[in-house]
Parts: sequence; C-alpha cells; structure tokens
Amino acid sequence: MSEKPTKHTKVLIIGSGPAGYTAAVYAARAMLKPMLVAGMQPGGQLTITTDVENYPGFADVIQGPWLMEQMREQARAVGTDLIEDHIQSVNLKSKPFEAIGDGGQKYTADSIIISTGAQARWLNIDSEEKFKGFGVSAVVGGGNAAVEEAMFLTKFASKVQLIHRRNELRAEKLLQKKLMENKKIEIIWDSVVEEVIGDDEPKNVKGLKIKNVKTNETSELKIDGLFIAIGHDPATALFKDQLEMDNTGYLITKSDSTETNIPGVYAAGDVKDKIYRQAVTAAGMGCMAALEAEKFLASN
Ligand code: NDP
Repeated sequence: MSEKPTKHTKVLIIGSGPAGYTAAVYAARAMLKPMLVAGMQPGGQLTITTDVENYPGFADVIQGPWLMEQMREQARAVGTDLIEDHIQSVNLKSKPFEAIGDGGQKYTADSIIISTGAQARWLNIDSEEKFKGFGVSAVVGGGNAAVEEAMFLTKFASKVQLIHRRNELRAEKLLQKKLMENKKIEIIWDSVVEEVIGDDEPKNVKGLKIKNVKTNETSELKIDGLFIAIGHDPATALFKDQLEMDNTGYLITKSDSTETNIPGVYAAGDVKDKIYRQAVTAAGMGCMAALEAEKFLASN
C-alpha cells in the first residue's frame, strides 16, 4: 500500500466545536489556510443538544446542530480546509509539529490549535455499562444538562425523577426555577446511584438502587430508563506527557492567553476551561487562539 502524501499547514486545528470553527474563521481570514480535523463527533457537544437560548445574536431559539452547521459552513466559506479524520497521535517535540490520523494520514503544522473539547462522564458502575443505551425516565446530575434533560423528558414520561448527590443544584437559576415549577419532576436530593437493575435479554432497565449519602439508607426506584448527565472530562489523552495539564486533565495555558507550555501550540474551549464551558466562551477562546497563532507565525 502506498503511503498517503503528508499534508502540511500553517495552522492545524484539532476539533470541530465552537472553539475550533471560530479559530478556523479567524485563521482563514488571516490568509493562513488552516486545516481543521473534525474528530469523532463533528460539531461537538452542541450537535447532541436541542434548544440553544443563550448564544448571542439569535433572538429566537435555535437548535444546536443547526448552529454547528452554520459555524462549519462559515469556516468553509472563508477558506478552511475541513478534513474528516480523527487524530490519534501527535508529536509536539518535532518541528514542524506532527499529527497522525486514524487511517495513517500524516499532518505537519507550524502551529496547532487544540479544541478537542470534553466528553460525557459516566458513573463507572458495572451495571451502568451493561444497560448503556437502553430505556427512559430518571436523570442523574444537578447541572444545566441534567435539568434540561429532565424537563425535556417530561414531554414523553408521566414522571421524571432527578437524582442529585447534593441538596443544591449547580444549574443556572432560571433553569432551576423552571424545573421546580414542573409538576412532573421529583427531585431526589443527597442521593447516588449504586446499581442499575434490569433484564439481560432483551436488555431492559427496570429500576435503580440508590443510596442517601446523608443517612446511608438505600432504596429502590422503579424506572423505565436512565439518563446520566454528570458533566464531562476534557479530551486530552492525546497530549499526555507532552503538554502541561492540571490534575483533572485540563490543558494549562498562560494567563490571559491560549498558549500552552509549547510555543505555537494553543488550547481553546472545553479542553482547557472547566469554569465557564459555554459555546460562546469556547468561541471566544478559539478567536484568541487564532490571533495568537497568527502572531506566532509572523514572528517565526
Ligand atoms: P456540570 O459539570 O455543570 O454538572 C455536572 C453535575 O453532575 C453536577 O451537578 C455534579 O454534582 C454532578 N456529578 C458529577 N460527577 C458525578 C458523579 N460521579 N456522580 C453523580 N453526580 C455527579 O455539567 P453539565 O453537563 O450539566 O454542564 C456542562 C457545562 O455546559 C456547564 O458549564 C453548563 O452550564 C453548560 N451547559 C449549558 C447549557 C445551557 O446553557 N443551556 C445546557 C447544558 C450545559 P455537583 O453539583 O455535586 O458537583
């Protein structure tokens, strides 16, 4: 089999969420001809969201997948080379930097913008693994995602139970208010899921064993299904031992900058941000990263 010719770019953008596409728009408009490798889930987390009500510029509710399509088309229109591939390894010690795609395609780049985002967390109990992808009706978590999911499910379920490990939600106040007003939702406070109960053939979720963390009492809930919305972990495995990360795996960048510990390598969006994690903040960081890459390339 003949080897595919190496693709070289001045700016390689890894990841296709709001941070990646915004970086692409800015880099392309700076005539840097960026290459954006989309990854496993093109468009990122917003492609699995429905209503988006807080992305500025849209007075009417828009849909996450639509917003990402628009970002992609904008990036393409201004001259980004959009590539459907998934980077499986990088070498940030070489100059130019190197990256290899799943099919063996080699990329070299004078600068890299990392916008690989974050991926959904699981509870990490055995029975959860067994029933992944089946059934409906209890939601675990206390953040925006869990609250939105619980409200969405009331369109289909007669009752939705939201199970949260503390006695206070993390979700924004407006969402909490809507949740409390929804008569179909019951909140089960201070509780964690210990076991998912169900049938093997056909695979079917029937209940949950939950424990109250304050009293240590366990109880069983009858449910038809389970949704886990307990946050995300940054997608940084690719950069282990090459870039500085904090103890939870988020990339560390210089203060007021997206520059990592390697000059020419930038990180933007959820891959480096565990505080704000909004589409608009990710987009803002993508813009910063492109401007910083442009300056770096001009002076090197
Ligand atoms: P968050 O990190 O905001 O919330 C995660 C929730 O899961 C927390 O309540 C946390 O509990 C709980 N949790 C974490 N780990 C476990 C565990 N192992 N077992 C049980 N519970 C656990 O994540 P989200 O996915 O909700 O949101 C991510 C980001 O995306 C946020 O910044 C959010 O604002 C944003 N977002 C915005 C939306 C919007 O604006 N419309 C919609 C969806 C997400 P604890 O509170 O105790 O830490």
